[in-house]
Amino acid sequence: MNGQPAHKKTVRTAAEYLKRKDLFRKDAYLNGEWFADEGRGTIEVTNPADDAFLGTVPDFGAEDTEYAIAAAERAFPAWAATLAQERAAILRRWADLMRTHKEDLAVLMTLEQGKPVSESRGEIEYAASFLEWFGEEAKRAYGDTIPSHLPHSKLFVSRQPVGVCAAITPWNFPSAMITRKAGAALAAGCPVIVRPASETPFSALALAVLAEEAGLPAGLFNVITGDAKIIAATLTGSNVVRKISFTGSTEVGRLLLAQSAHSVKKVSMELGGHAPFIVFDDADFDKAVAGGIGAKFATSGQDCLAANRMYIHEKIYDAYAEKFARETAKLKVAHGLDEEAVIGPLMSEAALRKSEAHVRDALEKGATLLAGGQRMPELGSTFFAPTVLGDVTPDMLIWQEETFGPVAALTRFAEEDEVVASANDTIYGLAAYLYSRDVGRCMRVSDALEYGMVGVNTPKFTGAAIPFGGFKQSGLGREGSKYGLDDYTELKYVCFGGIDE
Ligand code: NAP
Repeated sequence: MNGQPAHKKTVRTAAEYLKRKDLFRKDAYLNGEWFADEGRGTIEVTNPADDAFLGTVPDFGAEDTEYAIAAAERAFPAWAATLAQERAAILRRWADLMRTHKEDLAVLMTLEQGKPVSESRGEIEYAASFLEWFGEEAKRAYGDTIPSHLPHSKLFVSRQPVGVCAAITPWNFPSAMITRKAGAALAAGCPVIVRPASETPFSALALAVLAEEAGLPAGLFNVITGDAKIIAATLTGSNVVRKISFTGSTEVGRLLLAQSAHSVKKVSMELGGHAPFIVFDDADFDKAVAGGIGAKFATSGQDCLAANRMYIHEKIYDAYAEKFARETAKLKVAHGLDEEAVIGPLMSEAALRKSEAHVRDALEKGATLLAGGQRMPELGSTFFAPTVLGDVTPDMLIWQEETFGPVAALTRFAEEDEVVASANDTIYGLAAYLYSRDVGRCMRVSDALEYGMVGVNTPKFTGAAIPFGGFKQSGLGREGSKYGLDDYTELKYVCFGGIDE
């Protein structure tokens, strides 16, 4: 289907909101060229806040994915042979261009993703920081020399780019999940094929406009839109693609792992979370309330780091629940382009139904409703009031599953051992939070939590400098930080024999 479907109510296309109109691209970007749908059909993109039609992208499939793979394969040798400084300079220019056009990129992100525009600006800065960080890390991709165990020999280890990489990314962070992967791949000397989420392709395509402007040669950064299953099957099935990086649900991650087994690819998986948020009775009370709001309601709760199980010590539970609910009720829910919005729409009807189901199930099983609890039809069909449930118990769905919506679940605990055991009692292990002023306890509990990342007395700990990733079924590998290049390189060991003979 081309053009604007008749049933859509809004007539402004996304470009009309932007100062730089050419950042809104509706074509896929393969081998340094822009491709319209070529008669293969298109996918509609709408604003989750009001269902307004924003534009379409091509519904590409296996043949187009093969084209991108071949282009990336051709581009690989010359790129791998560049000096790290050259790669870093291009990545830095790309990051600078993102910052120059931050406002347009943020507005575009809010239009297709819904998140408050202040959060979108933050994500653009976060996304740009990965390009800059990995450009710098490329210069420090050191190897080793090994004291020889063989006579007359010298032993060297160096890092080589793994080859063509693929990235499959989610809608909740439409730019940062791409640059966290593409920045590392390109810095290491690898081309990358990105398949963005169907809901948020325009942020990815705007990144391609700026990559080209930064001087990135053709074939190195490709953005293909279309059917996820077909494109992913082609990427995972290819022997040319040597590495796949995925951010999304654990269910899809398992599928991609299985599909990648045949060609024995390197894989990075950033999967689901089910974060515990633990407040001890010796915590700074006000900071723990503000931290809980931040950890629960960022990205309108649609965040893999979102606090999903909030454990509050029994001595402070009543006061905490009362203040937390009061502060939650003050959060402004609005269209993301409203500068005062703190909570935007949810991404889909399915997301609303999941939040509703978690609330209904909890109330049926004896939880108490302390704030919110219902849709907000006066704002639109995808808005859900920030909600607080008290006295939640382990038999409730919300205690067992990632909600991915603005619903906070509070329970009381008494003992440190008990709360750590309960927090660890899940297949997930992405992020955890704890609040206490006892340094010994902070060390002990953060050690005991089976999570890849622990925020102690803070809801904010991400950034390009940290190794992002999870334990257990929350993922494999780490993105960002000095470890982030590892998954995009192979270690090459060379033994020089016969010297001194
Ligand atoms: P999702 O359904 O797994 O989708 C993620 C991506 O995979 C999208 O591009 C999607 O395409 C694609 N996809 C869907 N089904 C596929 C299939 N059968 N084969 C190949 N690709 C497929 O996840 P989501 O609902 O968008 O995102 C939410 C999840 O991501 C949550 O569980 C969250 O915790 C997790 N997440 C994790 C991190 C992290 O770093 N650990 C960060 C953000 C989000 P379509 O858009 O076309 O469906």
